Amino acid sequence: HARRIEGVDKNIWVEFTQLAADYQVVNLGQGFPDFSPPSYIQEAFCKAVNGGCSMHQYTRAFGHPPLVTILAKFFSKVVGHDIDAFEDILVTVGAYQALFCTFQALVNEGDEVIIIEPFFDCYQPMVKMAGGKAVYVPLRPVSRGKALTSADWVLSSEELASKFNSRTKAIVINTPNNPLGKVYKREELQLIADLCIKHDVVCISDEVYEWLTYDGAKHVKIASLPGMWERTVTIGSGGKTFSATGWKVGWAIGAGHILKHLKTVHQNSVYHCATAAQEAVAVGFQREYEHFGTPESYFLQLPERLQHKREKLAACLESVGLQPVLPEGGYFMIADISSVKVDLNDPSTQGEPYDYRFVKWLIKEKGLATIPVSAFYSPEHSKDFENYIRFCFVKEDSTLSSAEAILRNWS
Ligand code: PMP
Ligand code: GLN
Repeated sequence: HARRIEGVDKNIWVEFTQLAADYQVVNLGQGFPDFSPPSYIQEAFCKAVNGGCSMHQYTRAFGHPPLVTILAKFFSKVVGHDIDAFEDILVTVGAYQALFCTFQALVNEGDEVIIIEPFFDCYQPMVKMAGGKAVYVPLRPVSRGKALTSADWVLSSEELASKFNSRTKAIVINTPNNPLGKVYKREELQLIADLCIKHDVVCISDEVYEWLTYDGAKHVKIASLPGMWERTVTIGSGGKTFSATGWKVGWAIGAGHILKHLKTVHQNSVYHCATAAQEAVAVGFQREYEHFGTPESYFLQLPERLQHKREKLAACLESVGLQPVLPEGGYFMIADISSVKVDLNDPSTQGEPYDYRFVKWLIKEKGLATIPVSAFYSPEHSKDFENYIRFCFVKEDSTLSSAEAILRNWS
């Protein structure tokens, strides 16, 4: 095997998704909705598939023209910069491939990439496969009493600044964050932006949950801050945007002089993505463009619906003594399991981190799937975060009620 894949063979999604399937559990693990996308976008997909030959054939390599055109129109308004549909956008196989193309295109052997912990797990293996070195900086819960919301988890500005040096090529941020749910405030983003500009560093901003914020939290795009358009790659996901994770349509948006390198990776690997799925996502964005800011907009309706699900899960976790960290955004809620005493005597999980053992016990003995939070930390810091597990609440109320019943009958 090639050296570049050494040490990246383990994957929590492969492991825990299989386990959840084997035990036929109530699944609050992997992040996907168990309800359907809005009907207009399902109809758009069917229409695309049934609508003539061209939808079954190749389209433009870097993105189906109707999709890049509407993405440019839509996001030009949001970012406050005139986005060129054909220069500044690359459509990819989900946000995953956008991330992969970005690291492959920009990171050289020995380059450092700063990753903020906790982080979506794939950043680390992707940096490594590109030959780079991941440098970690943690979000820490502030110590005034108990941290109750994701806003209480913050960066130390001195610590962050200390990670930048002449070898730093990029920083990866994720807002709203997976798994914590933190939505970075403008001041927090400005601090990161100032350091990127000072040290001539690229910002890779993973914004797949950009429409999902709660309690009035506001998602701010770091690319919209002064001096940042030129050095930011913003990554999005049609799957997360329209509750259609299986379609695997994603994108990277940024200045043409950076995006052209991502295109080089794309044209020499995947070449292009499924035409009909791109067509359907284009129709979705066209509709959202027409209804933006009105009650008709799915980008308003979905977070409203999820806000209620967030309350339902938080109340349930609190009532059984699992202290949740209330997320300001995204699909997930983490909860502290340190007060729960269970007898983890499964010899097959001996030696694994505590949260891994706990989650496996919960799956096998209680029929409920979640995800261990230490998986979102570097090996250096994961030991300090073995007392949290992650729940996905983007689920039918009936699924959440089934989970609640399991948690209440705990012992
Ligand atoms: N980034 C984050 C933060 C995610 O949670 C996910 C999973 N949806 C992805 C990227 C990958 O998204 P996609 O399914 O569009 O590949
Ligand atoms: N992003 C989703 C999650 O965090 C799914 C990840 C995956 O399946 N690889 O659960």
